Amino acid sequence: MALDKENQVQPELEILDETQLLNGTIIGVDLGGTRVRAVLSSGTGQILARAEMFTEADQGLEHVLHNIRLTIKAVMDLAEFSNLVGLAIGAPGPLNPYTGVVYSPPNLPGWSNVPLVDILEKATRLPVYLGNDANLAALGEYTFGAGKDYRYLVYITVSTGVGGGVIEDGRILMGAKGAAAELGHMSVEYDGPRCNCGNLGCLEALTAGPYLRKRAIELLESGQKSKLTDMAGGNLQNITPELISEAAYEGDETAKNLVLDTAFYLGVGVTNILHLFNPEIVVIGGGVSKIGPMLFDRMREVVTERAMPAFRQNVPIVQTSLGGDIGLYGTIALVLQNYEKAKERKQLLTELAAEEV
Ligand SMILES: [Zn+2]
Repeated sequence: MALDKENQVQPELEILDETQLLNGTIIGVDLGGTRVRAVLSSGTGQILARAEMFTEADQGLEHVLHNIRLTIKAVMDLAEFSNLVGLAIGAPGPLNPYTGVVYSPPNLPGWSNVPLVDILEKATRLPVYLGNDANLAALGEYTFGAGKDYRYLVYITVSTGVGGGVIEDGRILMGAKGAAAELGHMSVEYDGPRCNCGNLGCLEALTAGPYLRKRAIELLESGQKSKLTDMAGGNLQNITPELISEAAYEGDETAKNLVLDTAFYLGVGVTNILHLFNPEIVVIGGGVSKIGPMLFDRMREVVTERAMPAFRQNVPIVQTSLGGDIGLYGTIALVLQNYEKAKERKQLLTELAAEEV
């Protein structure tokens, strides 16, 4: 679905299977800095309808909450309330999935200790589950994607930032505060470039899209010759990771080296991940992963050079097959994991609502 204007009053709604709408049992919501999306899904993870609108994060907390409620309502109105089991929402961290509180994500200005689960339970009368978007992507991949045949999986997203999730025997590895597996902020070069988080040489600071773009611009500004200059129409600000990828496959040396450097650091990161978590499969998604074979071949080479054989043998390192919906599949999977508990909680919420009247 492509949104065409900001300040929408209503979300855009798309119905994928009209005949099955009454079988909708799960609502999944993906709150991003740019867009908020919601789906109605069957109990087997079939997406029946979807709604989407701009988050308009710059307009502050109340406005964003309003847009979240509108987007949920658009899909919820299509379902039979008595058939609905639960709702899960993925949001940018930091957040606490145990308490349902979102702290203060950098891309949601004005948010500070927001009890999102409480707010949405009151609004929908459904049990609500909250997860970090990257953790949920890992759960989505595990449940519906390349991880279906495995119990131990690591998912890494390399996009505007680098995030990840670890699935340990079928469950998200959470940590004491539910914030484990910040894979993007492991240092892979101890005196490397400064990361947004304050640390030096984080995997994010060496592989995420904006850093890749920044390094390309710096190289060209320092006089390096590359067809990227022409491809960007002479304006280096037009350079994107997609353009770098295109130039690299056309044989441009500068672009190729940028891709290979990115692959190298990802290889170092994946090596650490293999040693730390001993997964059966590593799945990589996000915009930068779309560079494809040139990136993955070099990354696998680095892993082969560096990782201990017992940790790397028979561990596929693959690109996600779920595309942009991976986070939404994660929210559906989160409700599925809590299915029985959710049914009980819904009963409780219904009783509480009756008492309030
Ligand atoms: Zn960092």
